[in-house]
Amino acid sequence: MAAEIIDGRALGAALRARVADEAARLAAAGVVPGLAVVLVGEEPASRVYVASKRRATLEAGMASFEHRLPAGTDAADLLSLIARLNADPAVHGILVQLPLPAHLDAAAVIHAIDPAKDVDGFHISNAGRLATGQMALVPCTPLGCLMLLRHRLGSLAGAEAVVVGRSNIVGKPMAQLLLREDATVTIAHSRSRDLPAVCRRAEILVAAVGRAELIRGDWIRPGATVIDVGINRVAGADGTARLVGDVHFASAAEVAGAITPVPGGVGPMTIACLLANTLTAAARAHGLPEPEGLTG
Ligand code: NAD
Repeated sequence: MAAEIIDGRALGAALRARVADEAARLAAAGVVPGLAVVLVGEEPASRVYVASKRRATLEAGMASFEHRLPAGTDAADLLSLIARLNADPAVHGILVQLPLPAHLDAAAVIHAIDPAKDVDGFHISNAGRLATGQMALVPCTPLGCLMLLRHRLGSLAGAEAVVVGRSNIVGKPMAQLLLREDATVTIAHSRSRDLPAVCRRAEILVAAVGRAELIRGDWIRPGATVIDVGINRVAGADGTARLVGDVHFASAAEVAGAITPVPGGVGPMTIACLLANTLTAAARAHGLPEPEGLTG
């Protein structure tokens, strides 16, 4: 195997430690950063995510406010909870765990969150600010990917970058961040022609597709830095479930210069960036200096 493995677990832990230090500094100034997480329903994966977000928040010395609502909660009740959280000075970040039950309009719920507390960075105002180069809260997963790229490459200026996937949560904000870093950016998607050829152009390849091991080693430009956002559950040879990315790791690692593993790559950075965004939101809310390097 030629590629360096980009260790998201170690980098995520280092980022969390840094956030904890900065949170202690804010607490000493009388501000305990607080994150409210809202979970509607009992979706098992969402419950696991919410529990791990709570644990990480408390470990970083921040306040965690958890709101679990029944699956049948109506829009008015959910929106009134969000209005209360918007008005609560102890809450600096608000995250509504997605997906929401089908009867609730996720876009309307996200847009009810005060953009200054929108630590997921999904509000249209934050998306627009990112796209127009203004101060924003940036979605956690692409922010984490950017930090991994910076760690490996330093400057991204002029690099040929390809993002596969155009979701509002990962692909589009990732492309915006790369553009902000002066990379030359291509966004590929399910209708792109000759995806292997597009990927082969990339010095930086970010895969956010949701298709197990779609991207093979012979799609990778030699020496490229490959960030694999995908989390796909597949059956292993012995029938047990295992997680794989959107990139076929073994063949890609023969060709790439550096690559993130799944698990242990992008995932741990995502949660660390959620804490970083909460800290940033708390500092901004109180007019305190923002810790450097946490907003990408
Ligand atoms: P999504 O389904 O919203 O978007 C997938 C994108 O991939 C779409 O834009 C689509 O055009 C594109 N696509 C689908 N099939 C394709 C194909 N055959 N060829 C080229 N493009 C294709 O997914 P998402 O929310 O952006 O998530 C993508 C993946 O990242 C999923 O596996 C998800 O589980 C994972 N994810 C991981 C984290 C993390 O923290 N590691 C966070 C968010 C998402």
